[in-house]
Amino acid sequence: MPELSLIVPVYNERQNLPLLFEAIYATLASSGRTWEVIFVDDGSHDGSTDVLHDVFQRDPEHVRVIVFRRNFGQTAAIAAGIDHAQGDVIILLDADLQNDPADIPILLAKLDEGYDLVSGWRKNRKDNALMRTFPSRVANWLISLVTGVHLHDYGCTLKAYRREVLAGFRLYGEMHRFIPVFAHSIGARITEVEVRHHPRKFGKAKYGLERTLKVILDLFTVKFLLDYAGKPIYLFGGTGLVLIGLGMADLFYLFLRRFWGIPAATSPLLLVGVMFVIMGFQSILMGLIAELLVRTYHESQSKPTYSIRTILEQKE
Ligand code: UDP
Ligand code: MG
Repeated sequence: MPELSLIVPVYNERQNLPLLFEAIYATLASSGRTWEVIFVDDGSHDGSTDVLHDVFQRDPEHVRVIVFRRNFGQTAAIAAGIDHAQGDVIILLDADLQNDPADIPILLAKLDEGYDLVSGWRKNRKDNALMRTFPSRVANWLISLVTGVHLHDYGCTLKAYRREVLAGFRLYGEMHRFIPVFAHSIGARITEVEVRHHPRKFGKAKYGLERTLKVILDLFTVKFLLDYAGKPIYLFGGTGLVLIGLGMADLFYLFLRRFWGIPAATSPLLLVGVMFVIMGFQSILMGLIAELLVRTYHESQSKPTYSIRTILEQKE
């Protein structure tokens, strides 16, 4: 078993691959650890697949290649890599040489200090300022604000993880950038270090402004999952109670007004009050259904509702 698994998602990066191998070998060969690198070919159609085949032929001891049938997206590629990784330490890296493999030792040093997750921070980011860097700043600020996990650069792929903090959740959509948030929720010790960033020399960037929108939508899911996945009745039931309270107050007000001779039936407030009360009950019922789902989720898969770091006990 290698100690270290490096995972690289690859989508049409043929020209970058030779330089990438060199850089990876240079760093990992001198790292003093056993290692493997897993390339996940995410449906490339520019010849990257053949290049990866060659690399595997040359060094099957260190290299593993997973080839997708079609393009499933960077997050899916990363998930596949994690599923197949054998190391206790997992490092993610982009294939386009914008991340620098030479930064890997800095991340490893931080893990050795006792952290469970080390996030790269592209302090001098070399991407289009208007379309990428600025929207990403806004997204990072928003994620930090909403989740309470303060990192400068969620979007930087170059991060190092202890295997345990990756266990127990699946990655959907664009969610690989939220791994630190999930890790934080199970009590992982997280830190960040500055890493280098280079402009793309070959190939095209695969994303534009629309990704920031997707990230913000994902943030809703993440926030909900974090705060309420274990107790959805608090959110739905809470909303329901507030709605019922407002609806009842509104109806009571209409009732009182009748003593001054103002009819209730002609006021729009009647509809509002009735709607609120109905929606309130609906919301509570949804919360109850969600509670059933939570139980099915945890109990059918024997997923615990906690995460243990260590257990001290006398072995028999
Ligand atoms: N990538 C992938 N599947 C995709 C899009 C991208 O595996 O559908 C890979 C790509 O080859 C690169 C990494 O994900 O290694 C990051 O992509 P890119 O450089 O385009 O993103 P950016 O650096 O602009 O965030
Ligand atoms: Mg890139």
